[in-house]
Amino acid sequence: MDVIEQQKKWFSQGHTMSYAFRKRQLLKMKKMLETFEDPLLKALKYDLNKSAFEAYTTEIAFLKAEIKEQVKSLKKRMEPEKVKAPLSHTGTDNYIKKDPYGTVLIIAPWNYPLQLAIAPAIGALAAGNTAVIKPSEMTPMVSWVISRMVEEFFPPHILKVMEGGKEITQQLLAEPFDYIFFTGSERVGKIVMQKASEQLIPVTLELGGKSPALVHKDADVTVAARRIAWGKLINAGQTCIAPDHVYVHEEVKEDFLKAYDKAVKQLYGEEPLNNKDYVKIVNFDHFTRISNYLDNGRLALGGETDENRNKIAPTVLTDISENDPVMQEEIFGPILPVLEYRELQDVVQTISQKPKPLALYYFGENEEEQEYVTSSLSFGGGCINDTLYHIINPHLPFGGVGSSGMGSYHGKYSFDTFTHFKSITKQTTKWDPDFRYKRDEKSLKIIKN
Ligand code: NAD
Repeated sequence: MDVIEQQKKWFSQGHTMSYAFRKRQLLKMKKMLETFEDPLLKALKYDLNKSAFEAYTTEIAFLKAEIKEQVKSLKKRMEPEKVKAPLSHTGTDNYIKKDPYGTVLIIAPWNYPLQLAIAPAIGALAAGNTAVIKPSEMTPMVSWVISRMVEEFFPPHILKVMEGGKEITQQLLAEPFDYIFFTGSERVGKIVMQKASEQLIPVTLELGGKSPALVHKDADVTVAARRIAWGKLINAGQTCIAPDHVYVHEEVKEDFLKAYDKAVKQLYGEEPLNNKDYVKIVNFDHFTRISNYLDNGRLALGGETDENRNKIAPTVLTDISENDPVMQEEIFGPILPVLEYRELQDVVQTISQKPKPLALYYFGENEEEQEYVTSSLSFGGGCINDTLYHIINPHLPFGGVGSSGMGSYHGKYSFDTFTHFKSITKQTTKWDPDFRYKRDEKSLKIIKN
């Protein structure tokens, strides 16, 4: 593709290497978001019915904070890192050069269609790469605005948006990119990794999965319910790190259900389907897929749907078993299965036998139990006594593990993700001792010491 050749040529000429150039790109990115704020908010409303508040906080403000953090630390991050050396290296300087990979492909999903297309690009440009972004075709209005705004602010040899469906992604995956950053489903993640392996292109995979929340008997149940409802219902559950289902200790289950009901009403009123700020399901296929879960177990809250507007009310299902369909796949919608337990060890054992989740949330006051849960289980990241908040801290790496992904980003971790750490030993020519050239006993003794 012409654009990839152009980007590679531009990169190889060294234009992206200076601090001044990179800082300029980041500030341009900020200006671009400010200039296009209104069309972006309108597009997010159109594609997903995101309210201006939700769209601004979870997409635009998030990106502006990421740019600010990156600009603040850019100079320091770019500097070569001096390291120590063993005695055999006496007289040498040893350091790690922070090398950009080159030309990066960013593939984005639809659920936070702006944030997840632009946040990796911020890291890629900060680290001195050029980039091609493939936004999701499922949110076409946002994809269109992203394409227009990038075109207005960046020449294609630095940053380019390629709109389209999976055919475009497949074409892009055949190109000789230097790095691929993919956010999306586990299924497509496998396709991306397979294609990347043909050219040995390094990848970051930001995938999904079923992220559990645990509410133990010593939790502040009211706070837990509020924070779980907030984390679950932002974007109508279409959040990769939304609490997918909840395990509640049997002693606090009834209190939790009551508190969740109350929290939902506080957030979206008595008729969430008619709340103008309640996000819709992205399309009818997903609406149907999620609605099919409604006959699992017993309906404890919600259950109403509006197929004309692809909306599903905040719903709670109880009497759920691990074998029910709702427990087999990532729900990615506003339905919350609530399962009860008696022994914490049993829940930990159950979760440990499943694919490693992207997030895990533990609610409970006892620090030993907090430590037990967060140490016993492998998961991408999470919170104790909250949901989602870990993603908002730019000083924490964000990413999955196992089937929820590989690699991480945000802040320093974005810069590092898009950087090759190039090791250099700078040798002195003032002396050139013999020990490495001779294969005798004396040399071996020196090497062994
Ligand atoms: P998806 O995997 O269907 O699509 C992601 C991207 O891949 C889109 O740009 C799409 O065009 C492309 N694509 C789809 N099918 C393809 C194919 N066969 N070949 C090549 N490219 C293809 O994911 P989605 O439905 O857009 O997003 C939802 C998923 O993403 C959920 O699993 C969610 O948990 C996950 N997700 C993860 C994160 C994270 O940061 N870890 C963030 C958001 C969403």
